[in-house]
Amino acid sequence: MITPDIYFENVCPTLNMNIRSELYSTNEFTFAVAVILSAQATDKKVNEVTPDLFRVASTPRKMLALGIDGLKKYIRVISFFNNKANNIIKLAEILADDQGDDWKFPVKYHTRDELMKLPGIGQKTANVVMNVLWGAPNIGVDTHVFRLSHRFGWVTNNDNTPEKVEEKLLKKIPKKYHSIVNHVMVLHGRYTCKALRPNCAKCPVAKWCNSDDKNI
Ligand code: SF4
Repeated sequence: MITPDIYFENVCPTLNMNIRSELYSTNEFTFAVAVILSAQATDKKVNEVTPDLFRVASTPRKMLALGIDGLKKYIRVISFFNNKANNIIKLAEILADDQGDDWKFPVKYHTRDELMKLPGIGQKTANVVMNVLWGAPNIGVDTHVFRLSHRFGWVTNNDNTPEKVEEKLLKKIPKKYHSIVNHVMVLHGRYTCKALRPNCAKCPVAKWCNSDDKNI
């Protein structure tokens, strides 16, 4: 059985813990935009378009100056780009202020409730933004966190939504790990404990794993 302590003690040393997200960004606004773009898309795909986009639109004001048609030209290879472009422009309208390229969210947005009032920011996006930018102990449940939680037996079949999984994980996993859960499980899920053909031979917790998907 992989307990949370066994998991984090053995997986963390195998990862680069200095970076908190593989998404490219230049400031807090561009990070939020990158997370919005990453819904139903891989970080790799998002990172292919964001360096060029953020060179011209690194703040809400610059994003508004680029405009929706200009934005779509940069992100058209990303899934649901029409919808995402609409949300990003609406987000920029609300956040537009005098800040420069080191743009930061005003403090009033440093809660999940306030972030979730913004266009394009749902629970998962808010959790990832708070977790990565401000070290908040939220657990963003994406496809990797969802899959691994079930594989490890940390949640049950009844926990069939990201919200239910997050609620269970917050109780199951000791608080000291909450701010790194998403980062560690995303990287472990992306490169080792993959959805198809997990690389169990290279997995640092293989000897404790009882998953039916284990292949060694
Ligand atoms: S042994 Fe395989 S299935 Fe188990 S956690 Fe590691 S990679 Fe995932």
